Amino acid sequence: MLLVHAHPDDEAIGTGATMAYYAAAGGGVTLVTCTLGEEGEIHVPAFAGLAAAESDQLGGYRIAELAGACAALGVRDHRFLGGAGRYRDSGMMGLATNDHPRAFWQADLDEAAGYLVEIMREVRPQVMVTYDPNGFYGHPDHIQAHRVAMRAAELATAEGFGPAKIYWTAMPKSVLEAGLLAFADSSDNPFAGTDQADELPFGTPDAQIAARIDGTDHHAAKEAAMRAHATQIPDNSWLYSIASNFGGEFMGVEYYTLAVGAKGPGSGPYGWEDDLFAGLSLPAQATAVAADSSAGEPAAVVVPTPPVGTPAEAGAR
Ligand SMILES: [Zn+2]
Repeated sequence: MLLVHAHPDDEAIGTGATMAYYAAAGGGVTLVTCTLGEEGEIHVPAFAGLAAAESDQLGGYRIAELAGACAALGVRDHRFLGGAGRYRDSGMMGLATNDHPRAFWQADLDEAAGYLVEIMREVRPQVMVTYDPNGFYGHPDHIQAHRVAMRAAELATAEGFGPAKIYWTAMPKSVLEAGLLAFADSSDNPFAGTDQADELPFGTPDAQIAARIDGTDHHAAKEAAMRAHATQIPDNSWLYSIASNFGGEFMGVEYYTLAVGAKGPGSGPYGWEDDLFAGLSLPAQATAVAADSSAGEPAAVVVPTPPVGTPAEAGAR
């Protein structure tokens, strides 16, 4: 699988449990990060001087944080789109940083997609994960990551090696509503000032969710990956209080909508898949990797879904 994210830390916060789940299962997990996150706020006082407005060294520092996060998730294949430093963090929408000559927001769509096509040509992902057209919450780099990923998939498909399924990260309305309730009386309420899930910039009706990945067993790996991004996520973040107050499920379960491809078998009132590969057949190569990795390690859980039908692109894998 191929995940396309905007900044270091997005992979951990948004899809960390999914990545850890599939990496532990012996699947090939490739992460592509589009920028170095140069414009991030710094939450470690000792490193405040790295900020864009100071020495502008944060991006380089975050390469190491991302490496730590990938190690925590068990992900061994990580790339920066076009190489580290090709595209710069654009900052929040409307800021002058949007206009930097290397800002990802200014990227030529086909050039940026071309870098991703080359990665797809090499790793042949069956499944791609990225953001929805609003970049989940509207950050310009997330919107651009969506555009670039979708364009690259289109180009790769034309050449016969596009992903069979494309998912966008999502948060079901029911989960947001449960979160609003659970936190209503908390002194550390991330939803303070919000009464209704509809007021938030994200949230997808449950009927539109396609997959629920239960990475509860990997919630500790996800939390460790988030802690690797120490300049970005303060130690006292509500994200960690969720983890300790509400158990692994809040951290470990992640949701997706299906943008491209046929939905596989699922369960529950909306037929949610429990596997992003549901309905796809495993390529021989991935099976071999899973068999190899089981030799000296705890039993690898091979992606459990039996083949259902044959995706059009199967011949290329
Ligand atoms: Zn981001």
